[in-house]
Amino acid sequence: MKPRIIAVANQKGGVGKTTTAINLAAAMVERGRRVLVVDLDPQGNASTGLGCEVSTRSITSFDVLTEDATLAEAIVRTEVEELFVCPATPDLASADIELVSNEKRSFLLSDALRQPGVEVLDLDLILIDCPPSLNLLTVNALVAADSVLVPLQSEFFALEGLSQLMLTIRQVREAANPALRIEGVVLTMFDARNNLALQVEQDARETLGELVFSTIIPRNVRLSEAPSHGKPALQYDSSSRGSVAYRALADELDRRWGGARPMEKAG
Ligand code: ADP
Ligand code: MG
Repeated sequence: MKPRIIAVANQKGGVGKTTTAINLAAAMVERGRRVLVVDLDPQGNASTGLGCEVSTRSITSFDVLTEDATLAEAIVRTEVEELFVCPATPDLASADIELVSNEKRSFLLSDALRQPGVEVLDLDLILIDCPPSLNLLTVNALVAADSVLVPLQSEFFALEGLSQLMLTIRQVREAANPALRIEGVVLTMFDARNNLALQVEQDARETLGELVFSTIIPRNVRLSEAPSHGKPALQYDSSSRGSVAYRALADELDRRWGGARPMEKAG
């Protein structure tokens, strides 16, 4: 069966995209899924956070986009069984320029995900960790994806950047991927003692309604410590509030999806 493909996107940096990609992936693995994280950020934080050291990143998402390698060649295993990563290196920052004359430049990731070789991994879910920009890399993710998951940091101005992202999503729908859905908006780094955070939550729920997940990701130091240990927080400190929250997010997604896949798998 075809894996579900979700782009984790927000052009603001530091809002929790990578943390969400890594830990949602780990939470889905706990639910019996086989998950790939595609690191599409030249900073390579998702690769690092999944224990893929810079020195071992031989074939990367850049090679995949420039068609020098297939996705299957780039994918590596992580310490977590059933969790895979396609790593990124800083050269990915030049993709915009390298690919400018390539007519298929917006479709490169989409094509790569459909190449033969990936299906042997029997993936259920692919999470694409986008860079903090609405550049060609993010467009590639949106063209390739079934849906977009938007982490929203619970701070002032958080909602302001969303209109630009929504416009890009509309443009991608019109030009390349009419079926692209918005999976939802997840509030991250939430501190319930902070009145501003509560205000952002209220505004987000009023403006975006059902799109906002009930699950809120709290500010939790374990989530920020885990990447330096090269593992998801769910492995680093399984019972931390951050880990519990990402499990709840996975559960909420599954309920929204009707829970078809895990039951299938169990049967
Ligand atoms: P992005 O990928 O959007 O740039 P990150 O996921 O890298 O954002 O998060 C930015 C920083 O904040 C990182 O240092 C990360 O470890 C930390 N962080 C992310 N989410 C949380 C959270 N819920 N609680 C505490 N720290 C967090
Ligand atoms: Mg990131």
